[in-house]
Amino acid sequence: MRTFNLRSARLRSGEEHRDEIELELTPLEYGGQRYVPVPETVPADLAIARASTGTVFRLGFVARLHGPCYRCLADAVVELPVSAREYQATNPEGSDELRTPYLSEDALDLHAWARDAIALALPEQILCRPDCAGLCPVCGKDLNVEPHEHVEERLDPRWAALADLRQKLE
Ligand SMILES: [Zn+2]
Ligand SMILES: [Zn+2]
Repeated sequence: MRTFNLRSARLRSGEEHRDEIELELTPLEYGGQRYVPVPETVPADLAIARASTGTVFRLGFVARLHGPCYRCLADAVVELPVSAREYQATNPEGSDELRTPYLSEDALDLHAWARDAIALALPEQILCRPDCAGLCPVCGKDLNVEPHEHVEERLDPRWAALADLRQKLE
């Protein structure tokens, strides 16, 4: 489901409509990388509560995204519990705060809402595992597979000269 038609809920003031829906998700770009929802369709709880002053929309689902690890580029999976809430006043009178951007006429754009809610729920970095060591900044090898350091290249040449001198004196 990508849009929900409010008319189908036939809500009156003081009523709440609850639905278990099949929500369609789409791949998203994050930090220049592409993350794909697996599965693309997830069960979601949609709740719509109408009061005389306005309507509250709630959407809850769990998204699983597959994509490259931020540090080592290996496959990473992130599981995101998403819980979103929107409000639409009965008489918003031009105020954007009292209006949800996902509602136009009687159509609730679940697709755009879910996409934005996922973006807000994303962690700062998507990692293959919390302690991923990443790629070596010198040679580019995967430090998870091959932990190593480049000792020589880290040495200041002046210290190397001094070490040489010390060796000669000994
Ligand atoms: Zn990683
Ligand atoms: Zn290296």
